[in-house]
Amino acid sequence: MRAYDPALDTADPGWRDDFYIPPFTGDPFTEVAYFAGNSLGLQPRATRDAVTVELERWAQMGVEGQLTGPRPWKDYHEALRDPAARLVGALPHETVTMNSLTVNLHVLMATFYRPEGRRTKIIMEDIVFPSDGYAMASQARWHGLDPAEHVIRLRPRDGEDVLRTDDVTAAIRASGDEVAVVVFSAVNYLTGEWMDMPAITDAGHAVGAIVGWDLAHAAGNVPMQLHDWGVDWAAWCSYKYINSGPGGLAGAFIHERHARDTSLPRLAGWWGTSTETRFRMDDTFDPPPTADAWQMSNPPIFSMTPVQVSLEIFDRVGMPALRERSLRLTAYLRSLLEEVTAESPAGAMSIVTPAEDARHGCQLSVRFQADIHHLAEILRDEDGVIADTRNPDIIRFAPVPLYSSYLDCWRAAEALKRHLA
Ligand SMILES: *Cc1c(COP(=O)(O)O)cnc(C)c1O
Repeated sequence: MRAYDPALDTADPGWRDDFYIPPFTGDPFTEVAYFAGNSLGLQPRATRDAVTVELERWAQMGVEGQLTGPRPWKDYHEALRDPAARLVGALPHETVTMNSLTVNLHVLMATFYRPEGRRTKIIMEDIVFPSDGYAMASQARWHGLDPAEHVIRLRPRDGEDVLRTDDVTAAIRASGDEVAVVVFSAVNYLTGEWMDMPAITDAGHAVGAIVGWDLAHAAGNVPMQLHDWGVDWAAWCSYKYINSGPGGLAGAFIHERHARDTSLPRLAGWWGTSTETRFRMDDTFDPPPTADAWQMSNPPIFSMTPVQVSLEIFDRVGMPALRERSLRLTAYLRSLLEEVTAESPAGAMSIVTPAEDARHGCQLSVRFQADIHHLAEILRDEDGVIADTRNPDIIRFAPVPLYSSYLDCWRAAEALKRHLA
């Protein structure tokens, strides 16, 4: 395996200085090599002060903070609207920051999954983050339908790890007018596969279905154009690539062609009515023609501030620059892992994530013959390499373009080479 070249990090440092990197005490490194930003992103250095400002405002102003100051709490979510829209390729009034991801899946399905006549089916992937599997099965049951019959879960072909776009679009066509909702993870949590979002969205629309996307592993990771692609709705969490902290608030996207239809059924709350009627405290529910109309409760400020701070970083960096660094960094890790694979016993490891640029974000999922839990444990304890395991045989490495370094990638590969030898 080739040696580490420090010029790589000097020439392409990313935005590492904006983040706290957890310490590591094993010689010669003083920081961990963090590859788990796809599970919980690292803390931006600016977050603590920004949260302290709001705590101080609360201490000094009490309820007056709702109405006064540079960012009154009652309108706080509006400060997140434009940057969130830029992150996912939406118009500002198509996005809103609220709730958590699984809650948003349900809130959006309440509007967009209304099985009727023959059109009852949900099509999704079979290798799915469990929460989405539970959510979609429970949506079918909620409507009195048996998920075994009404939720279609697509598997990769035998002997293959990831779904082929053509197989997905063919399955959608095959179910035709029985498809109510198509819902996929844009980037698969296990395999790292980035789905062909425009092709699948078009295929869903061609059979008259609604197409929603779970962006948990896509938001802040890959460039998207939700509006132009005509996506109906989407939801994402912000504690993975968006670095908002454990359990951070989620995002939602509702295409303006739906948001404009204020008669759509929805689960309503007082924050979903227009700002003019909200404080009249009467019985008028008057939703604005925007994603804001799906809000139910007043925003949790101490959870919103970290999202706002993080979105400022994305705005400063810009998705194009971030994606370019992501491709460089992930290509570097891939080439090192390929060297390790070639130098290790046959079959010891293999990369599962598609190699083509258009089919992956920053995560590389690697399959191991060895016990992954033991391997991840020694990587963590002996080498300070933090990567997570997913049963039965995958370890996920996500070099995050905002803060991961070429040295991190080299450390991971070098440690794997030693342990697999
Ligand atoms: C991380 C993740 C979740 C987590 O759901 P929460 O509601 O935020 O706990 C759900 N779905 C997918 C696809 C994920 O990757």
